[in-house]
Amino acid sequence: MHATVKVQKTWFQEGHTKSYAFRKEQLLTMKKMLTTFEKPILNALKFDMNKSEYEAYASEIAFLKSEIDQHVKQLKTWMQPTKVKTPLTHTGSKNFIRKEPYGTVLVIAPWNYPVQLALAPVIGAIAAGNTVIIKPSELTPTVSWVLKKMIEQYFPPHFIAVIEGDKEVTQELLEQPLDYIFFTGSVPVGKIIMEKASKQLIPVTLELGGKSPTIVNKDANIDLAAKRIVWGKFTNAGQTCIAPDYLYVHHEVKADLIRAMKKYIQQFYGEDPLESEAYTKIVNQSHFERVASYLDSGTVVVGGALDESKHKIAPTILDQVSWEDQVMKDEIFGPVLPVLTYHELDEVIDKINSRPKPLALYYFGENEIEQQRILNSISFGGGCINDTLYHIINPHLPFGGVGESGMGSYHGKRSFDTFTHEKSITKQTTRFDQNFRYPGSQLGMAVLKKFFG
Ligand code: NAD
Repeated sequence: MHATVKVQKTWFQEGHTKSYAFRKEQLLTMKKMLTTFEKPILNALKFDMNKSEYEAYASEIAFLKSEIDQHVKQLKTWMQPTKVKTPLTHTGSKNFIRKEPYGTVLVIAPWNYPVQLALAPVIGAIAAGNTVIIKPSELTPTVSWVLKKMIEQYFPPHFIAVIEGDKEVTQELLEQPLDYIFFTGSVPVGKIIMEKASKQLIPVTLELGGKSPTIVNKDANIDLAAKRIVWGKFTNAGQTCIAPDYLYVHHEVKADLIRAMKKYIQQFYGEDPLESEAYTKIVNQSHFERVASYLDSGTVVVGGALDESKHKIAPTILDQVSWEDQVMKDEIFGPVLPVLTYHELDEVIDKINSRPKPLALYYFGENEIEQQRILNSISFGGGCINDTLYHIINPHLPFGGVGESGMGSYHGKRSFDTFTHEKSITKQTTRFDQNFRYPGSQLGMAVLKKFFG
């Protein structure tokens, strides 16, 4: 581990990663790697999580290829120094911002989209001219193994390396003299990462989680809301950081909404979702037990079936839930959707604002004034009006949390910016010298007052 960091830092210092031609070539190599390894990736995702081929391709491989295309297309422009204005005090000089890589970046990934979340930050990091160490999640070991194999086949370890392992390995990595840490995972581990990084003042991006609310107002298109909520919640069996965690629905439309959600659950996953090939399993026994325990909260109105041998939990909707129930205390991160009702939107706004700032928020309703009220009065990472999850797929929208749901963001240009240090430079003229700044200048005070008085 120590040797890998050392060799990457030396190689970076030698300047190999900095040219546009090198960066572009590496991005294209990564795209080729994804094509060559498509089958092993899909197989590993099936084995570790029972992800269907369609879901795995769309949410992992296609997502990454689209990010690469976006980077390749724009990289030259993004790399250009940005000229800035020259104030009168700086007459004669040129002022600009150089885009510089940090050096050696550590990417720590979770298990829920184990390929996408390990490689999407790498795309930004190498586009920005860094070397990278990837620490995949140990909870999806087959994917972790495939990641290591394909990176080894396509990239030298002094440029990109995969170091597999659990939290002990991660903690040891955090002791290394890294230049940037990009972490995706849970809030408690995010705090550990930041604490460790602070010892060496290593900059961090923290992509965390939490409870993301979905609000359905009485003027929403209920059928479409139900369809989009069911899709957003039960994709990947609810193991999505920005999945709707719980529902807040206006009391007048609750029965209709639950009825429509039940219809779409059947339409998407069949009469017996536990047997559906399109339905992902829970990642391991301990997460299975954790999510299954939430079925003790409230009343099951849809779903509730379990298959422990396959680690599957049917898409489940819970009614009669209160904030005292365990299901409302933790991030659910599984296919269980508790439903709360409300009478006035103010109650919802006050409640959400009394809790940690969510990573995502979804609002369903046609009235624009109420849409604006939600956007104006609640702080959250990002989200949708009249949809779920869809904001994450737009490469022009930076993705990240706020407050407890994280800090920093990425995707598209923001990925390049995240892994880029902006070095501000004044290039001064030697053709003349303005004396007003020097001690003893007769004009100094007059000039200062003229400019800043
Ligand atoms: P996790 O925090 O348990 O693990 C993430 C990574 O940290 C893994 O690689 C793991 O090996 C490492 N790790 C675990 N414990 C550690 C410790 N004590 N010290 C150092 N490293 C440690 O998260 P997870 O269970 O893999 O993923 C689920 C969580 O991630 C959820 O909270 C979810 O919301 C969040 N998440 C966020 C995003 C996002 O983009 N914001 C995306 C996916 C998942």
